[in-house]
Amino acid sequence: MPTLFTKIIQREIPAEIVYEDEHVVAFRDIDPKAPVHVLIVPRTEIPGLADLPDDGDHRHILNAAKTIAERLGLTGGYRLVFNQGPDAGQTVDHLHAHLLGGRQLGWPPG
Ligand code: 5GP
Repeated sequence: MPTLFTKIIQREIPAEIVYEDEHVVAFRDIDPKAPVHVLIVPRTEIPGLADLPDDGDHRHILNAAKTIAERLGLTGGYRLVFNQGPDAGQTVDHLHAHLLGGRQLGWPPG
């Protein structure tokens, strides 16, 4: 059973895709928590950071984050967040990074 994010990647569910390459697809979060809130999702289905293979090549998420931030004009800064498991509030079990920006971001996060 494909994940929700795989269905978005396969265009079965609509989303505003802002970036894609052979490794990742990035689209705007349906419930944005900042003026820019993009989810960066590897095409490979991995449930979360806890399942990241040691030999995985997931640095592409970081490279994509940098590229998307530049393209979206986040010159003042931005934040990349991975929620892992229930204590972090992870709701979709398909590895993803939240790219947040466009406003002053509080620290520590809630
Ligand atoms: P998590 O809570 O797992 O770290 O993040 C999942 C994110 O997916 C949430 O921020 C939520 O708003 C977003 N989301 C859930 N369903 C959809 C959807 O159908 N489309 C889009 N674009 N984002 C979604």
